[in-house]
Amino acid sequence: FFHLSTFRSWHKMSTGAVKEFDYLVIGGGSGGIASARRAREFGVSVGLIENSRLGGTCVNVGCVPKKVMWNCAVHAEFLRDHADYGFDVTLNGFNWKKIKEARDAYVRRLNAIYEDNLKKSNVEIIRGTASFNEEGSVTVNGVSYRGKYTLIATGSHPVYPKNIPGAELGTDSDGFFELDHLPKKVVVVGAGYIAVELAGILGTLGAETHLLIRYSHVLRDFDRSISETLTNFLAKGPTKLHTGTQISKVEKNANGTLKIHVRRTSNSGSGEDVIDGVETLIWAIGRDPNLKALNIEKVGIELNGPFIKVDKYQNTSRQNILAVGDICGEWQLTPVAIAAGRRLAHRLFNNEHDNHLKYENIATVVFSHPPVGVVGLTEKEAVEKYGIDNVHIYKSQFNPMYFAVTQHKSPCLMKLICVGEEEKVIGVHTIGMSCDEIIQGFAVAVNMGATKKQFDDTMAIHPTSGEELVTMR
Ligand code: FAD
Ligand code: NDP
Repeated sequence: FFHLSTFRSWHKMSTGAVKEFDYLVIGGGSGGIASARRAREFGVSVGLIENSRLGGTCVNVGCVPKKVMWNCAVHAEFLRDHADYGFDVTLNGFNWKKIKEARDAYVRRLNAIYEDNLKKSNVEIIRGTASFNEEGSVTVNGVSYRGKYTLIATGSHPVYPKNIPGAELGTDSDGFFELDHLPKKVVVVGAGYIAVELAGILGTLGAETHLLIRYSHVLRDFDRSISETLTNFLAKGPTKLHTGTQISKVEKNANGTLKIHVRRTSNSGSGEDVIDGVETLIWAIGRDPNLKALNIEKVGIELNGPFIKVDKYQNTSRQNILAVGDICGEWQLTPVAIAAGRRLAHRLFNNEHDNHLKYENIATVVFSHPPVGVVGLTEKEAVEKYGIDNVHIYKSQFNPMYFAVTQHKSPCLMKLICVGEEEKVIGVHTIGMSCDEIIQGFAVAVNMGATKKQFDDTMAIHPTSGEELVTMR
């Protein structure tokens, strides 16, 4: 009942014994699947353990369904501008169920494609939850497995706040993807990627959306210019931004809605307030590693805060046990998990002893409204690293031509961080329409060590927003 080649790829199998693989991968998400399939290309035997839907966070409750909903919200934005472009369109309504069903069907297709690809690669899929035994083997549903090398790629899950009475009445990003209708009134808590993205989608689609942040700005880890531009724009609506706000208590009303008690602290003083009649409360305040079921204390793996500590080769503190992706805490992004997993397979099974992911100049996009696209150091990081006298900043703020004829305006800001006499470009920070697509090409240039002069020597494409990056003075 299994592939002959899969059978051959096992080193040993006998009843009651440990099933052995060259590579045992725990977690069938972005990092695990990529690493497992790449390892198979080098002819080694691979088992992959997954206790839920294949594809992990990205495919099921992350990037993919999120991007579908972002696209959906972008439609709403274009509809808003239709009249300005001369169209006389009557909007009869928006059917959340329709897009949810189409989105869910797409995700199910992807689940099947991932399973199919693993089977085609002759990766043995083991269904169930893995936990370590003292000697480094792993148990799933009472059966033991051992890898010559074992990869932990179990990802992360949303965090809930501790010590807030009623916090459990809220949901998280996983719950967002289960909503079967557009809630009338929503509170989203958090100031990072997920909070900004989900609040943007819900607000743009017409839900009364309140975004609650602890401090004065969203995306505080980003370059100040991006953080400020997005915060100022959010403050103009449709999302209602509440700065300096923390929830103190959540209560359920008789009609099932939530009464949310908040504490506000601002320059003008502090006070208590209530946001009532809230249909959905979404916590988006960070993610913790999926470690609990693994029993890693049995193998004595060192942690870095709550996450697994790894070196640049993805080695944990225990020999031949490796980790990639969200479980390691840094750069919780799908392409990072995939790239780290693939490079690891090359290092372990293709004699590429120094192959590892360079965690520098990683481009990233926040699918806010408008989107953010960045790569490289922020101005603050550059000044800390190179000194203020060596850092040169170029900045441009403008209205993309799309908004020249529309009543609604959306900002665009682009900023280059350059260093040294040759003005090597070490940071590109953009926010505005299409910046989600523009940044990828500039990430190539930054990774190649391009200078400002080389940017300037590149002919502009007119009329685009991207041309600003090669015409800045
Ligand atoms: P995962 O993909 O989460 O895979 C881990 C797998 O391990 C899961 O399938 C899980 O079921 C399984 N597992 C866990 N424990 C066990 C166990 N003990 N035994 C067996 N199986 C186990 N990144 C981007 O780059 N772009 C985006 O636009 C983006 N959007 C996002 C939106 C949201 C709402 C969220 C939550 C995340 C988003 N991310 C995005 C981040 C991205 O999804 C993650 O960084 C990525 O999925 C991490 O991959 P991973 O392999 O580390 O973990
Ligand atoms: P993030 O770490 O990005 O942001 C969470 C933020 O919430 C913190 O930065 C903090 O901001 C705020 N926060 C923390 N604790 C509290 C609290 N108790 N009360 C109120 N606010 C709090 O986590 P996310 O959950 O947004 O996303 C997790 C990761 O997933 C991201 O870092 C990213 O790597 C990945 N992701 C990537 C996406 C993409 O590529 N487009 C999209 C979605 C997720 P502050 O300190 O300012 O209050």
